[in-house]
Order: sequence, then structure tokens, then C-alpha cells
Amino acid sequence: MQDCIFCKILGGEIPSTQVYQDDYVVAIMDIRPVHLGHVLLIPRDHVEQTLDMDAPTLMHMTAAMQFVARGVVSATRADGWNLGANSGAAAGQAVFHAHWHIIPRYTGDGLKHWADEAVTHDQLTEMGGKIRAELTKEL
Ligand code: 5GP
Ligand code: ZN
Repeated sequence: MQDCIFCKILGGEIPSTQVYQDDYVVAIMDIRPVHLGHVLLIPRDHVEQTLDMDAPTLMHMTAAMQFVARGVVSATRADGWNLGANSGAAAGQAVFHAHWHIIPRYTGDGLKHWADEAVTHDQLTEMGGKIRAELTKEL
């Protein structure tokens, strides 16, 4: 897609450090990593975010994510890792070509986890019911 930085990277127009590629996905080093070893897994097809991926791409992304994450954890000797997908501007998405972050983590690295919202049991029950009602179709 024109003017998409990740399409340009995948097309070789903009250089990147690739660590994995196949027919569906490419994995590159993030240029502004949370920690060195932070990798972006990007589907070749331009879609905006995870909700827009078709089933074959999504299944392939999942398998490649685990494969690449094993490599990241081994190479960095990380104590843990995060899988992240910022989906939508409100969630912090800056590049609107779908991608998943694979981020190595270290014990005591000081990164903050998400804050939790105070909710009541009734709110959990009500929202759980609303979400269940949305999930009536087969997977
Ligand atoms: P988002 O907030 O959209 O989930 O994250 C976009 C990520 O892409 C950021 O972590 C940012 O550092 C990375 N990024 C942005 N531009 C480039 C680039 O030109 N090359 C690489 N390798 N990563 C990029
Ligand atoms: Zn794109």
C-alpha cells in the first residue's frame, strides 16, 4: 500500500534488519526497541490490524510468533517476553499495517504493567454476558 512504512520495508524500499521471513510473514528488528531483541512480526498483506487478518494469515502469524519468540528468548537470554498488538490509535498503534511485538523481558527491568481498573462483580458479570452474546457464531 502506498505510503505505508511497513509495506515499503517488506518491499525492500526501506532497509530493515530481518530475522525471519516466509510466504505470509516477515519479522524485523524494531528500530526503537523496548529492549534490544524487540522484534516486529508483520503479515505481508497490508491490513490495518489483527481484526482484519484472514484466517490463514492469522494461523500463520501465530505459528511464526511462537517460532520467532523462541529465537528471541534464546538469543537475548531473556527471563520472559511480552506479545503485544496495539490495535487502533486509542491503544497506541502508530503504524497502521498490522504487526505483533515480541519483546524480551528481564527480571526487575522496571517496565510497568497495565494499571487495573476498579470494577464490581456485577460489572464483570454484565460485561461478560455482553461479550458472550457477541460470540454466538462458530469460531
Ligand atoms: P505500534 O505503536 O504501531 O504498535 O508500533 C510501531 C513500531 O514500529 C514501533 O515500536 C516503532 O519503533 C517501529 N517502527 C516504526 N518505524 C520503523 C521503521 O522504519 N523500521 C523499523 N524496524 N521499525 C519501525
Ligand atoms: Zn502496509
